[in-house]
Amino acid sequence: MSKRILVTGGAGFLGSHLCDKLVGLGAKVLCLDNMYTGHHRNIDHLKDNPNFEFIEHDVCDPLDIEVDEIYNLACPASPIHYQARPLFTIKTSFLGAMNMLELAKRNNATIMQASTSEVYGDPEHHPQQEDYWGHVNPIGIRACYDEGKRASEALFFDYHRVEGVKIKVVRIFNTYGPRMHPDDGRVVSNFIIQALKGEPLTLYGDGQQTRSFCFKDDLLEGFVRMMGTSDDVIGPVNLGNPNEFTIKELAEQVIALTGSSSSLDYLPLPSDDPKRRQPDITRAKELLDWEPQVFLAEGLQQTIAHFKQLLSL
Ligand code: NAD
Ligand code: UDP
Repeated sequence: MSKRILVTGGAGFLGSHLCDKLVGLGAKVLCLDNMYTGHHRNIDHLKDNPNFEFIEHDVCDPLDIEVDEIYNLACPASPIHYQARPLFTIKTSFLGAMNMLELAKRNNATIMQASTSEVYGDPEHHPQQEDYWGHVNPIGIRACYDEGKRASEALFFDYHRVEGVKIKVVRIFNTYGPRMHPDDGRVVSNFIIQALKGEPLTLYGDGQQTRSFCFKDDLLEGFVRMMGTSDDVIGPVNLGNPNEFTIKELAEQVIALTGSSSSLDYLPLPSDDPKRRQPDITRAKELLDWEPQVFLAEGLQQTIAHFKQLLSL
């Protein structure tokens, strides 16, 4: 019999692609979302599929359904959106995670948490390994998300130790691709949309801060491999692409690939913006036999094609 798999945040960018992948693998997928940053256009193509069900629900409210596996992705993810409603963000990170852990406990289901490289904050160690405890400002404007996700990891590990819940924790590094929200505010979608519209690309700070960008297909393969591991593999495991770029290099690649004549507009750097970020993926290679396959230029091309269509350019 096929597995019943709950994907919270399933109408969002990563969640909707995960629903596609799991339906393709033969699962019965329950996609849950409160539509804060999710969109029906991401899942409309699945709605007639008998193996897909959409549940409009907020993870901050308890839920009682039958499931075999849970991927907990529900949480605002872009700085603009998580900072717009910081109390909702921290509540979702903690209470939402707790409700989903309770659901996992009642069902004896395995639950995977979409944690983040933000648990490392503005890191003093580079690249970031899983045993680094991080450097997070607990009272800054990013704390609702960073500390929320750190608290959710603590909750996951205590539910595992105290209640025996089967957990998996992955720490996702900047992932991009088609279906990112056009007003998401994250750097890849911002730059592509600005370049396609011929508007200046908004570089925060001097553009010398770095990120390591992973294409969504690579990340989702890592998700599914992590869920498929034995119960003793609980993580945390970094999932991301170790190829590191400055934000200025990203801007230049986007301009080159779109053939845009956009200029660069330097704006103030938001507070607590991490200066460098690069995953050490040794653990993912060893445990999951996983490493990213898609180069930045290739993933950007697919993302550019998506936004061209969305903007009808
Ligand atoms: P997204 O904003 O597209 O997806 C998040 C989804 O969660 C949205 O559909 C939103 O409506 C839903 N949601 C938010 N709060 C909810 C709530 N209380 N109840 C129910 N649904 C709720 O962002 P994404 O990039 O797809 O991120 C998915 C997950 O991956 C998030 O948990 C995020 O923290 C994590 N993550 C993503 C990245 C990345 O680079 N994309 C990096 C690190 C971690
Ligand atoms: N950034 C930028 N211009 C933008 C959006 C973001 O220069 O229009 C920078 C931002 O300051 C950060 C990096 O790009 O240094 C990545 O930002 P994003 O919001 O995508 O993710 P995060 O900061 O959470 O890694």
